[in-house]
Amino acid sequence: MNHVVVVGAGLAGVRSVEALRARGYRGRITLIGEESHRPYDRPPLSKAVLLGDLDSTLVDSDLGALDVDLRTNVAAKGLREDALETTEGELEYDGLIIATGASPIRLRGEGAQHVLRTIDDALALRALLVSGARVVVVGAGWIGAEVATAARRAGCEVTVVEAAGSPLAVALGTEVGSYTVPWYAEAGIDLRLGTMVGSVDPGGLTMMDGSWIPADVVVTGVGVRPSVGWLAGSGVEVGNGILVDEHLRTSMPGVVAVGDCANWLSRRFGRRMRVEHWDTALNAPETAVATLLGESAVYDPVPYFWSEQFGRMLQYAGHHDGARLVLRGDPAADRKWAVLWLTDDDRLAAILTVDRPRDLVQGRRIVEGGQRLDVDRAMDPSVPLRDC
Ligand code: FAD
Repeated sequence: MNHVVVVGAGLAGVRSVEALRARGYRGRITLIGEESHRPYDRPPLSKAVLLGDLDSTLVDSDLGALDVDLRTNVAAKGLREDALETTEGELEYDGLIIATGASPIRLRGEGAQHVLRTIDDALALRALLVSGARVVVVGAGWIGAEVATAARRAGCEVTVVEAAGSPLAVALGTEVGSYTVPWYAEAGIDLRLGTMVGSVDPGGLTMMDGSWIPADVVVTGVGVRPSVGWLAGSGVEVGNGILVDEHLRTSMPGVVAVGDCANWLSRRFGRRMRVEHWDTALNAPETAVATLLGESAVYDPVPYFWSEQFGRMLQYAGHHDGARLVLRGDPAADRKWAVLWLTDDDRLAAILTVDRPRDLVQGRRIVEGGQRLDVDRAMDPSVPLRDC
């Protein structure tokens, strides 16, 4: 293999370049990205950058030493089996790694609406988060909660509107999400649940029920879609992201996919998974590159995610679909608590911790190991999880 092209210069893209060199690949590498920036990290955008503590989040990677031809402001437009079509012409390749991530969904309407995906988005939004500004955040998911935290910290008047019955309903379910409702009131945020936006208009939001919410700044945090439109007609199979097997191979020979855009087959969970988590972008490239170089590797992690909101650290590991929920601590009374999701035979399927990092580390290992828990002991927060 003489030339590997990596499409998408985000974390998964740059990690792919690092993995290629770490595995001894000595050929040409071209990394193309449609943004004008060198690869950077996104998690701090809704945290330290919005809070004003950080201006740059460039990934600490020596691109010179990696001998990679980085082409910024270049977008992939189409794909054939041996060539990539880009906005700057065609690129032939022997191996291709797709890491194009995801892009935010926007709402209908003519009014200005901010999304938060890029460093440019974050810096533009930060400049508007001034004391007294009326900020409406649409969506009480991970990004919405973090933006609301930063806006409140900046002294804005913050309203969060959410279509579901609780914050974080999609990610964690309404029951667990509802434990976070009091955090909004404590922070002085007007949280409106079960409310749907009709359109974003100049000066505010028209709601589905006809009511009007005035806003100086509207931030839309209602989710993302995998950035795969450019693959239309290429023959690469797509369906909620790029369909890849457990080795991260796409349906096209010599092409693998990683990160937010990839929908992989998990042996562990017996289903397809596409997760928009930093940890996946960090680690999946190892497997994808091994596969591309003809080694046998399987990607089968326990997904991991964290969020910093309202002065709390939330961490989640596992996959909880269909599992039953038990509490470790009392969310109404304790500042630190955890939720465990258990299978029918008392194995840990997933764990969410709030300011209990040790539980997260131990819980993640238990999910990985698949051993049974003594549920009564596990519900007692004074008993270390590893002893349950
Ligand atoms: P991306 O980071 O999206 O990179 C893809 C790159 O490809 C982009 O630069 C894009 O412009 C480029 N691209 C797209 N299409 C093309 C094309 N056709 N041609 C060329 N280039 C293209 N995860 C956590 O686990 N914890 C957190 O606390 C957390 N916080 C987050 C906060 C924010 C504000 C955001 C946006 C994300 C956060 N995440 C968090 C998620 C995490 O950052 C993502 O999972 C991760 O960035 C995915 O990396 P990626 O390389 O797959 O995709």
